[in-house]
Amino acid sequence: MIKKEINPKSNKLVEEVKKDYRASQDLGIKRCMQCGLCTSNCPAARHSNYDPREIVKMVLDDNWELLDNPDLWNCFYCYTCQSNCPVNNSPCQVNQVLRQKNLHKAEYKIKMKEFSAYGDSYLDFGVGSMPKAFFDGMVKDYGKSYVDLKVNLEDIRHELGLEDYNIKGKALEDVRNILKESGFKSRLKKFKNAKES
Ligand code: SF4
Ligand code: SF4
Repeated sequence: MIKKEINPKSNKLVEEVKKDYRASQDLGIKRCMQCGLCTSNCPAARHSNYDPREIVKMVLDDNWELLDNPDLWNCFYCYTCQSNCPVNNSPCQVNQVLRQKNLHKAEYKIKMKEFSAYGDSYLDFGVGSMPKAFFDGMVKDYGKSYVDLKVNLEDIRHELGLEDYNIKGKALEDVRNILKESGFKSRLKKFKNAKES
């Protein structure tokens, strides 16, 4: 279910983040010393204006304007920042909480459509895969080498002695059954319907 709008005056933003179930109990956000290690290793920061150190600072500064910062959507949850943070903070988790607080807003529902395509890829291929909608952007960023990788992925994997990336046959059926029985499929459907309402 999509969260209702929260009242910025009722709580500090950092407390809203810490009490969210997406945040680890020992999230070290209040210990952030602005060292910038997260930003220096963040792939999203390398390719856009997104800055995890700055995001954390804005939360600590109780700056609610952050919720409407479109750069928040450039993080793709690789967790590199979390692995590198010396005080056990996770800008990645912080980002997840912030994004979720905005999903009920009409202007962000389009994002739900984009991200629900990741769910479709599990149903279609049995693994997470880059949604078609992001393909043009990836080609723009990485050029022909990205196209070559996509076209030749299975051959490259075989040369490296790895199995196919995409799951096939009975294994794929098994994954689909798990996704159905666990409720993933029906929740994905609800998620997609929510973006229309
Ligand atoms: S690496 Fe951790 S402590 Fe350093 S700025 Fe990022 S969140 Fe703060
Ligand atoms: S999870 Fe997001 S903020 Fe953290 S390193 Fe990856 S892209 Fe950057």
